[in-house]
Formats: sequence, structure tokens, C-alpha cells
Amino acid sequence: MATRDEILRELGLAPAWQRRAPDAGGAVAVVAAPAVRSIVTVEDPSARRTRIAALGWDALERDIQSCTACPLCRSRKRAVPGVGDREAEWLFVGEGPGAEEDVKGEPFVGQAGKLLDSMLAAIGCARGREVYIANVVKCRPPGNRTPTPDEAAACAPYLDRQIELVGPRLIVALGKSAATRLLGTDASLASLRGRVHRYRDIPVVVTYHPAYLLRSLPEKAKAWEDLVFARRTLAAAA
Ligand code: URA
Repeated sequence: MATRDEILRELGLAPAWQRRAPDAGGAVAVVAAPAVRSIVTVEDPSARRTRIAALGWDALERDIQSCTACPLCRSRKRAVPGVGDREAEWLFVGEGPGAEEDVKGEPFVGQAGKLLDSMLAAIGCARGREVYIANVVKCRPPGNRTPTPDEAAACAPYLDRQIELVGPRLIVALGKSAATRLLGTDASLASLRGRVHRYRDIPVVVTYHPAYLLRSLPEKAKAWEDLVFARRTLAAAA
């Protein structure tokens, strides 16, 4: 059965104060229990959203690094805020960090990342130049599973603020999780491709996630078509 302290920690009420044995002088010292990364639910979601919506880049990244708003914080090694040009015209949004990203703290550094770099080269961009890369969730879902709707919702204020700060002219949603999060629809990826959608006022183009393309090579040609479509959409909006 869980102890009182375990329950308090689980509820995000740690550190619990503990009595220590009296010291030589007879005084009772008080020490903090060891820090435990638990889910802290003390911040009201709407207050949290308002607070995050006012953060600048550095404070936002610090907030992401120390976030405990959903259970993904328990298993992460490092949170992965995003990478790239903070004033980019292009914003690419993936799903969430994988194992390598979790270790390095940077999005898309594994095999899928290599493919994403080739996709960026295809539209004349490169990581860190004219493009910012972020994810729907900033902490790795265990076993690389799809983030749950609750996890995506807990991380939503971060992606929303990143989009506001970057102010991209076009967003590319990589895969279903990104499309669902940005467009608020559960429609299939196939049905969302080839059209211009909107996140607030920003055009959004949907394409396959690079990890899916690694498993389904024939779809690579379709992803190429999507990128050409995205480039044309951006040019037309100029
Ligand atoms: N897949 C993603 O969606 N994001 C990453 O950062 C890595 C793999």
C-alpha cells in the first residue's frame, strides 16, 4: 500500500517536510524530501496558458525544460523544445521526440531527421536556415507511441506560443498528430493532403511524417508533391 509521502508526491504535493532526529543541541531541523518529478496540477490550465502566451523565447524554453504538466515528464531524459531560425518563414511540426531526440534534446536527429533534412533541401531550406522545427509534444512518449489527446493538450500552449513567436508564413504538418493538433480535425491524412488549411491565419499544408515515409518508400513521391505544393502556396502568398 502507498505511504502518505508517496501519495503526496503522486499528487504533486512534494516536497513533503520531514522531521529529522534532534541534533546535538536538541533543536528540531526540517529538511526537504528529495525532489521527485511528479505531475504538478497546482497551476490552473487557463492561468498556465495565459502565462505561457506571454513568455519570450528563453523563458519559454526554460519552462518547457522544467514542465511537469503531464505524465511524459516522468520518463523523459530531456525535453525537446525545438530548433532553428526563430524568425523562419517555414515551420515544420512533427509529433514528438524519439529515443535519440530524448537524449540530445533536439528534434529530428534520428533516421527520420535525416529524411526531414533531405525534404528541407528539396525546398531549398536547411535546418537552422529559414525553417523552425518543433513537435506537438516536447517530451518523448514511452516506446515512441502516439501522444494521447491529453498529452497534446497539455503541451498545446507551448506550440501555440512558438508559432506566435516565429510568425511563420507557412506551416507544414508532418503526419496525423500534427495535423490533428493544428487543424482540430480527426480527418485522415490522405484526405487532408493537397489543400491549404489554416491555423489561425497561417496557411498549413499536410504531408506524411518522415518516419512513416521510411517504412513506406512509395509514398515518398507523394511527400515530394506536397512539398512542391507547399512551396507554391508560399510563393503565391508573397
Ligand atoms: N519524430 C518526430 O515527430 N519528432 C522528432 O523530433 C523525431 C521524430
